[in-house]
Amino acid sequence: MHLLLRSTILGAVVIATIAGLPDVSAAQDPPCCLRDGLRIAVQYRVEAIDHRRFTATDLWNAIEPYLAAPGIHTEDLARSVGGRPIRAVTFGAGPTSVLLWSQMHGDESTATMALADLIRFFAEGSQDPLQQRLAEHLTITMVPMLNPDGAQRFARENALGIDLNRDARRLVTPEARALKALRDRLEADFGFNLHDQGVRRTAGPTGLQVAIALLAPAADEEKSYGPARTRARLVTATIAEVLNQQVPGRLARWDDSFEPRAFGDLMQQWGTSTVLIESGGLPDDPEKQDLRTLNVVALLTAFDAIASGRYETADPEVYEQLPFNLGVEYDLLLAGGQIVSGDYDPITADIALVYDDPVAGREIRVEAVGDLNRAEAMDTLDITGLYVHPEPGATTTSQGVPGIRLGHRAAFTVRRGVSPESEMAYEFRE
Ligand SMILES: [Zn+2]
Repeated sequence: MHLLLRSTILGAVVIATIAGLPDVSAAQDPPCCLRDGLRIAVQYRVEAIDHRRFTATDLWNAIEPYLAAPGIHTEDLARSVGGRPIRAVTFGAGPTSVLLWSQMHGDESTATMALADLIRFFAEGSQDPLQQRLAEHLTITMVPMLNPDGAQRFARENALGIDLNRDARRLVTPEARALKALRDRLEADFGFNLHDQGVRRTAGPTGLQVAIALLAPAADEEKSYGPARTRARLVTATIAEVLNQQVPGRLARWDDSFEPRAFGDLMQQWGTSTVLIESGGLPDDPEKQDLRTLNVVALLTAFDAIASGRYETADPEVYEQLPFNLGVEYDLLLAGGQIVSGDYDPITADIALVYDDPVAGREIRVEAVGDLNRAEAMDTLDITGLYVHPEPGATTTSQGVPGIRLGHRAAFTVRRGVSPESEMAYEFRE
């Protein structure tokens, strides 16, 4: 496909900044931990995990060398329904307790990769002043991959088909019970609820694709700001301030309606100041490795701000002013073209397309054809004045009418004229 879309062009700039270590002079040194976080994410990356789909065995094998380090404590919390271990890894001996859990939805692995990198940093970074500071002030307990059975299938729910993030109230699953028991034992001061969201989300109605969505979840229907949620919002604002420098325009605020079955909301109610971090998408990040880096930056920033107490001076408006996280139906809208249908006169029809693998932008399929004036898509390409030529195999021959086949892989060219010999502008073919 020969397309240069807005998000791709902008994305290339963003990725270049993440991939290299930014040259930040001392005079404009941002507060911890943008520069340090980017460095640590590269230096302590657990290389054995380099793909967003991995199992519990892959994870624990990859981080096993670091679990024996002094100052790292590993504990078996419970067994999943499928008999897989659920483990907590603890670092630090400070008075403030921080609890993190990732991948309670089995197909949401970005933060698990970041936690693996942080575990390696905690294990090997004892010469690093940031590591020392965190060890002194915080006790950080991480549960990477709360739902190992879901991860095995790369599916959202646990082995009983239950969404663990709707089991915070009933606690019928061993996974949810393990998390609740751990929170109660630690009486955690701060919590980080780590997820991935769909990649078809924009930061506000006209914004870019959301890289990270943040939320200080409500603790009640009134969405009141008691002490726990107030602290959580300040931590969230601290994270937003730092990430905004790295991925400007790509942060959003998640809907804060109270959900009485969800862990984020109930943790807040139980007195643990909880922040939700949702990893979305970045252009040209098919395995979410740049998002993994952003998670390391976000979490180190939060840890440092909690350890120093700096979060207390954050401006909550930085969080409140984030655009809303908005869902979008399609990946690509081809607007205003003329579809050439055999012997019929060309008809004006928009074409909406979706990727079967929207994270990687692979396997594009036709979802709708017609007047799609109100359709929302991540990218829109105006092809007014151009002609869409379906490939012979892509026509609806079963109906006897040539055209674009709904639900099938995109297979057509966009040309400058009605003639199939005219100059090609774009090609859609997998
Ligand atoms: Zn989730």
